[in-house]
Amino acid sequence: MQFGIDPRRARALTGLGKAAAIVSLLDGSRDTAELVRAAERDGIGRQVVQRVTELLASAGVLDDFPASLRATLPDYLRARMGPELATAALAYGHGDGGAAVLARRAATFARVHGSGRLGACVATFLAASGVAWVSCAGDGIATAADVTPAGLGHVDVGTDRAAAVARAVRRVAPEARTADDARRLPDLAVITGWPDPVLVAALVRGRVPHLVVRAEEAIGVVGPLVLPGRSACVRCVDLSKAARDPAWPAILAQASAGSGGPASTQACDTVLAAATAALATAQALALIDRACEPATANGTLEVVLPDWQWHRRGWPAHPACTCGAAEAGLVVLAVLAVLKVRHVEVAGLAATADERLGVLQVGRRR
Ligand SMILES: [Zn+2]
Repeated sequence: MQFGIDPRRARALTGLGKAAAIVSLLDGSRDTAELVRAAERDGIGRQVVQRVTELLASAGVLDDFPASLRATLPDYLRARMGPELATAALAYGHGDGGAAVLARRAATFARVHGSGRLGACVATFLAASGVAWVSCAGDGIATAADVTPAGLGHVDVGTDRAAAVARAVRRVAPEARTADDARRLPDLAVITGWPDPVLVAALVRGRVPHLVVRAEEAIGVVGPLVLPGRSACVRCVDLSKAARDPAWPAILAQASAGSGGPASTQACDTVLAAATAALATAQALALIDRACEPATANGTLEVVLPDWQWHRRGWPAHPACTCGAAEAGLVVLAVLAVLKVRHVEVAGLAATADERLGVLQVGRRR
């Protein structure tokens, strides 16, 4: 009996014989005791049921979604979230039918900064993925250029853009909370466009993870995802760029002041906005779900149209930045050195340049 089609996901079990009937009983409506009783009515013993379910679980094809959680979900939400949870369960191999992912997303408050095409797409994607609270901080009046399939509609033109994003969120996720609460720090901030240094500084101070995303000049850029004090921050990236291009700080100041204005037409078409927002949302969910390392921590994912392929650019924490990520990286290196290298004394490692070099050498020697 084969489960799945694509060889990268499919698993096959042989020798099931009559016990194959157990599989048809695994439709999510029975707990283990009920499954045993139903199988016994078909003449299949308790031990066989236990053996088959263990085999299915070890093959990663059994989703044990808690019955109590299932009972709390309204029918509409269970149906809508089905594809989200099935994908997460399969991709992450959790074996819980997405229960852990559902709980994490339901406990998350995400604030999206910017109410243009990207902001509207990211906000609706997050809410549709089950993030329970998605607010949008943005200003301006919606124009026809803001209308996108995953964002604002024609009826929103001429209205407040942030309020229109909230309506777009509720169209796909009526249960989502959209009103902002300025007294509360979000669990994650998504900044669309060139980030405002004042906002970024406040997020770093508040230890709020934040993802930067922009799409203009027919280029989509997702990242960096800043985990304050742990991964490269916006300033780390700018310091690295300034080291390569001395004019960068002046260009950045003008870009930050001038982008996103209602009068300027951005070279960010519908498809680029959706593709960039989708990848940004996937990175945000990777962080929220805590199931894999987001590729945009210490990096950016970038596509330059008409190319189709996203490329990752690495942006390590900059030693001159005061965010603390560079020092945190050294601690990680030191831990790796301890784990990988035997008989090496690494106590008392500090962040001086010479010692940093020493740690790197220790890490390579195996
Ligand atoms: Zn930094």
